[in-house]
Amino acid sequence: MPLFESMAARPEVVGIGEIGLDYYYEFSPPDTQMRTLSFFLEMAARLNKPACLHVRDKSGESRAVDDLLGALRPLAGRLRGVVHCFSGGLEDARRILDLGLHLSFTGILTFKNASALRDVFARLPADRILLETDAPYLAPDPHRGHRNEPMFLTRIFTLSAGLLRLAEPDWSDRLRLNQTQVFGRACA
Ligand SMILES: [Zn+2]
Repeated sequence: MPLFESMAARPEVVGIGEIGLDYYYEFSPPDTQMRTLSFFLEMAARLNKPACLHVRDKSGESRAVDDLLGALRPLAGRLRGVVHCFSGGLEDARRILDLGLHLSFTGILTFKNASALRDVFARLPADRILLETDAPYLAPDPHRGHRNEPMFLTRIFTLSAGLLRLAEPDWSDRLRLNQTQVFGRACA
């Protein structure tokens, strides 16, 4: 698919994604998803552009995460990127960080029933975290269930600063740096 690569190589393209594995909806069979994912991961590494990664399992399973890590492992050190909308456990978080990737968090972090995720978050290194809206989905509390807007990101920002015990100006500076490390100056 040389057309993808020539388009992706353009300077205004700051990342490759979302790409990844969704075994929850399973719109296509896992082996087809894996082949497609590998194609785009290798392209991202060749072009030196970050990958925006989606991964979702059926509840109680971890096949998608395992397969994603398997696809990423051969590219460790050659690929930067972010696993977006992370809501997994500490073990999965560490496995992803070990491959040199960043983790991005949405409004889920603010949900009343997400205390386990907040516990995980509080134990992560601040220099490997990004925040995102995933708008129009996943509006943070107290807007949960309604259309998400970029302005609600402040809810996630404030809560996450508290979890990491960082002053908000320091956390803001850190996030800007993290963002630059993944996506470069164009998005800072
Ligand atoms: Zn996604």
